[in-house]
Amino acid sequence: MSANSNCLEGCACPSCGQSDLFRVAAFSVFEVTDEGTYDHFDVNWEDDASTWCGECEWKGVFGDLRKAADKLAERRERLMPGGVPRYVRIYDNGGGMAHFCRRCLTFQDPETCEGCGKKLLPVPADSGTCDRYTVVYTGRYRGRTPGKVAYRGMSCRPSHPQGVSMWGEGESDMDCGEAGFPVKLGEPAPFGRGDRRISFKQLPDDCKQVALRDYKDLWEIQ
Ligand SMILES: [Zn+2]
Ligand SMILES: [Zn+2]
Repeated sequence: MSANSNCLEGCACPSCGQSDLFRVAAFSVFEVTDEGTYDHFDVNWEDDASTWCGECEWKGVFGDLRKAADKLAERRERLMPGGVPRYVRIYDNGGGMAHFCRRCLTFQDPETCEGCGKKLLPVPADSGTCDRYTVVYTGRYRGRTPGKVAYRGMSCRPSHPQGVSMWGEGESDMDCGEAGFPVKLGEPAPFGRGDRRISFKQLPDDCKQVALRDYKDLWEIQ
């Protein structure tokens, strides 16, 4: 959403969504001589002022920009309540750690959870790959390939030069159990080795940033 806080506070283009540049037919009082115009006084406009988008072909009145921004903000809140993407499912294979806590949704090395004291579940010995986290992008965004889902495999620091960040496309039921429903939080994923479903909160910050960027691109969120 726009970070505008002055003339364009709460404004966005109804067509392309940008909020940086518009052309507005405004009023002012100019000093005029036979030579032309000189200094002008305050510039003013009302909600019915003719307005053009600085990026696309849209033309309308200034008041439309605020209505558009409200709609965009509503859509953004629906797709990302509290800034957390709604249509993603996330998996972690533990990166070689030996135990998993189903309550805290974290892989750990000790046998009892440091968070809640629960006895941890052992993890298959050959689990843990360099693309430890998998983010599956679900939902009906525009341009989604029918029958497929997009996903990204990431290491803990995907934006690091030696980090791993791989985009892929799988069958749309790649992370669904036998009944065809997605596995629940803490449950093992049907793909990979030792992958468990976790929540967005459990992702490392760097992975969160990458996943948010993907999500905003797919849903065309400004
Ligand atoms: Zn526009
Ligand atoms: Zn725990």
